[in-house]
Amino acid sequence: MYRPFVIHRPLSPPMAWLGLALLIFAACLVGIFARPIGFLSAFWPANALLLGLLVRYPTLARPPAWVAAAVGYVAADLVTGSHWGMALWLNAANLLGATAGWLVLRRLDEGIRRLQRTVSALYLLLAALAASAVGALAGCGAAPVYFNTPWTDLLSLWFSTELMNYMLIVPVVLAAPRADAPPPAPQGLQGVPLFWRLAPVSSLLLAEGVRTVIGGPGMLAFVVPGLLWCALSYSPFISSLLSLVVCLWTMAGVATGVLNFTPAHASDVFSLRVGVTLLALGPLAVACASAARAEALRRLDHAVRHDDLTGVLARRAFLEQGERLVARYQRESAGLAVLMVDVDHFKQVNDQLGHGAGDQLLIGIAQAMASALRPQDVLGRLGGEEFAVVLPDASPAEAHAIAERLRKVVEQLPFGAEGGAPQHHATVSVGLVHSASLGGDSDMEMLLLAADAALYRAKAQGRNQVMMG
Ligand code: GH3
Ligand code: MG
Ligand code: MG
Repeated sequence: MYRPFVIHRPLSPPMAWLGLALLIFAACLVGIFARPIGFLSAFWPANALLLGLLVRYPTLARPPAWVAAAVGYVAADLVTGSHWGMALWLNAANLLGATAGWLVLRRLDEGIRRLQRTVSALYLLLAALAASAVGALAGCGAAPVYFNTPWTDLLSLWFSTELMNYMLIVPVVLAAPRADAPPPAPQGLQGVPLFWRLAPVSSLLLAEGVRTVIGGPGMLAFVVPGLLWCALSYSPFISSLLSLVVCLWTMAGVATGVLNFTPAHASDVFSLRVGVTLLALGPLAVACASAARAEALRRLDHAVRHDDLTGVLARRAFLEQGERLVARYQRESAGLAVLMVDVDHFKQVNDQLGHGAGDQLLIGIAQAMASALRPQDVLGRLGGEEFAVVLPDASPAEAHAIAERLRKVVEQLPFGAEGGAPQHHATVSVGLVHSASLGGDSDMEMLLLAADAALYRAKAQGRNQVMMG
């Protein structure tokens, strides 16, 4: 059924802020414990998680969120024995960086922020660049004070680590499934055997094997075909999650020497990190573009199948669905019934109250009838002020009762009472035919013809009534 509104269930802010503080605390601990794995594997998820959550939940992004995050950051450093001055400086830089990224993304259209637009990946890159640059500039001054190294070393290290973390983690947070939104539009794998559904992700494993064997600097790109295949096959969430895993795995592989390519200098490390990050950009752009395409097709399909005035099924979609129900139910169980419903003297409504009031009446009648039907019944608008209904698995008596119910809800529906004008009531005439009365092999066309003949008699006998065919 047509659903014009999406219901948003907002998080209750105080709990959400508490949760944010705990999450940042935990993410910092993960980052701190990942440090000894190697210079190259610096994985710092806290800032990217913070940015992703602030953008994903705009109601969260109020001053207490920054306070909560600051508490989480500093607590993690102090718990693990850092100097408090350094903890304050570095975490101020972390917060500033995430804030810069948030400023880039916060005002963007909802579709862009949900990774459902073609440009989403480019905006993410822009936000990641801004966040990493601001964070690195704010934090690099701490190098000579606390680490005894030139500030330029920390600048390049910070920038490249942050760029990688933001580009890999933020998309996962933004595209993660939501309780308040319909599931993402199908990406073309529905009804495909499991083997083929797993093929794109399996190709990543194959590429991983190939690059371990071949090695060298070019090995970084060996996973690109697999990542692109995943981006075309899965949702942006799954494909960005796979990019995250593949890119982190690559970095860890280089750091621990599993992959046969060892960077000699810090500038190699910078180049490697930025290169691996940009590796994920292509598949991300493809995933966003293919999500945008799937969403556009879904909207188009909905528009084609539904009547744009009343929101019920349009003629062709109704006839197709009716045909399927007739094939399935006419010999089974109680059989099925078809109703033709026509508004009485509708031309007078247009003439006396205007075409706009006529349109409003049609919308009201469609909604009233939809609410009086059973979930399995199918309602369509055949054209003008003529509707039709298929009632699957209904005996003649049940079908007659439902038709009467439709007639009554319309009769009781007031309309045209805006601005103190008098209320009006419309009526409908209904022609009803049951599959049992036609026997054997009837199809949708025959049922509709018979229902139309019954409708004609209902009109002739005074309107506002149900006539059995
Ligand atoms: P009857 O009781 O015999 O069915 O009389 P009627 O006036 O309802 O039937 P008739 O077929 O003479 O008139 C139907 C009118 O419905 C004519 C047409 O202008 C109007 N109509 C068709 N589609 C729309 C629409 O989408 N909006 C509005 N407002 N009017 C429409
Ligand atoms: Mg009419
Ligand atoms: Mg008519």
